[in-house]
Amino acid sequence: MNTETSKITGNFINGKIRKETKKTLDVISPLDGTTISGVVMSTAKDLDEAVEAAKAAFPVWAAKTIKQRVQILYKFRTLLEENLEELTELVHIENGKIRDEARAEVLKGIELTEFACSLPQFINDEVQVVSRGIECRTTHEPMGVMASIVPFNFPAMVPMWTIPNAIALGNCLILKPSEQAPMTSLRLAELFKEAGLEDGIFNVVNGDKEIVEAICDHPGIEGVTFVGSTKVAKIVYKRATSNLKRCISLGGAKNHMFLLPDAKIDMANNIASSFAGSSGQRCMAASVLVSVGNNDEMINAIVEEARKLVPGTDKLGSVISPQAKERIERYITEAEEAGARILLDGRNVVVPGKEGGFYVGPTVIDYVTPEMKVGKEEIFGPVLSIIRMDDIDEAIAIENSSSYGNAAAVFTQNGGMADYILNRVSAGMVGVNVGVPVPREPFSFGGWNDSRFGSNDITGKDSINFWTKLKKRTTKWNAEDWTDWMS
Ligand code: NAD
Repeated sequence: MNTETSKITGNFINGKIRKETKKTLDVISPLDGTTISGVVMSTAKDLDEAVEAAKAAFPVWAAKTIKQRVQILYKFRTLLEENLEELTELVHIENGKIRDEARAEVLKGIELTEFACSLPQFINDEVQVVSRGIECRTTHEPMGVMASIVPFNFPAMVPMWTIPNAIALGNCLILKPSEQAPMTSLRLAELFKEAGLEDGIFNVVNGDKEIVEAICDHPGIEGVTFVGSTKVAKIVYKRATSNLKRCISLGGAKNHMFLLPDAKIDMANNIASSFAGSSGQRCMAASVLVSVGNNDEMINAIVEEARKLVPGTDKLGSVISPQAKERIERYITEAEEAGARILLDGRNVVVPGKEGGFYVGPTVIDYVTPEMKVGKEEIFGPVLSIIRMDDIDEAIAIENSSSYGNAAAVFTQNGGMADYILNRVSAGMVGVNVGVPVPREPFSFGGWNDSRFGSNDITGKDSINFWTKLKKRTTKWNAEDWTDWMS
């Protein structure tokens, strides 16, 4: 490609932006199809340099106390606030979501940073006198050089799931952004430098499949987090763990929302924004509405709310690529051909003045059966598939048959019924009358089944054990007259 060097999104290695790598890929704004940058496609040599820089920085960084380390994060948090609008704009143009959604994810990044600032309060190492004169004590020690591989759909928030916690807990981190939306990550690296983070502690290495594989294979990297599709999540989990690394690998989703006849009608907009917000490109988006009983009034209200989300306005953005648009529209057409009824059709949208952009409008498909592709596969677009059921246990069985298990929600005013359903669904994050049941800090984020591989959640308190290893120290200072077998 011919993008001039000044516009190229480089790597960030040892505190410097690096653009020497000649191979680049165009970064296209999905808002209008224009090329906004080029991103370097790193080689194994670039990764080696990043790992070496991180290894060199690690001993000094790890030796600091956690209270010292989080001082940088306090400064970084202030910089996020000061640069909120610039970061919002970057997310908006590279991902295509509307500015309000882009701003919301940067604000979530601030909340994640605040959680990391509070980690000194969460690391409660234990001390106990375990035998006469003998004390046992645990300490959470940093792992070393870690890596974080992220998807396109949250260019600010998903990197911030891992960066603040990883470095607060004493690790050095290599971030591999999505090649489709790499610009925000580089800006985050610059802000860390401005906050005073020493060189080598946080590095960004851009690229695609090749560099992901190099990360999984690199002997200098102790652990890997991955967020993306299930297909790649499995590849990364298998490859990283077969190289004896720690790994959390988050995959795709097919989230079920149960609608009962006593649900409050004014919650229709919550359901509409759950499936269509961010153009449905959220792993927590509602995808299947399991309607139990007669919910026609509510279904009509959902359609009317979704109709208001006009693509290309400040209500709804674009999808990431022409391939994504084509894939989503193909799902809708196949459902129509299989006999489902399209209540709201988002195909063939062209936005005046942004004809080169990739837009799909909110789409509601009724009378979907569990066998149809739209009823079981991840579409990752603004599409709601309605499956109508009469029996609550049969409705739950549909959710249980999904290979995924990220999120599920119930819309009802009947607490007992909500409890009955949520006790039986097979999903890691569940909600009542909440369209996008994302747990807020300090609670952790992570699904079940094919939505997450590995034994820890990726954020919150549960991630502490991923980013650290326990040292157990046993101490005796004085020889005792009386001893037992433990002494
Ligand atoms: P993706 O799997 O295509 O890409 C994710 C990352 O993997 C990118 O950095 C990409 O460069 C790399 N990659 C792509 N193909 C690869 C391959 N064959 N081998 C090695 N690396 C490869 O995902 P995406 O399209 O960027 O993001 C959308 C997906 O992410 C959806 O499935 C969505 O559900 C999922 N997601 C899940 C969560 C979660 O918390 N579970 C959160 C956000 C997104």
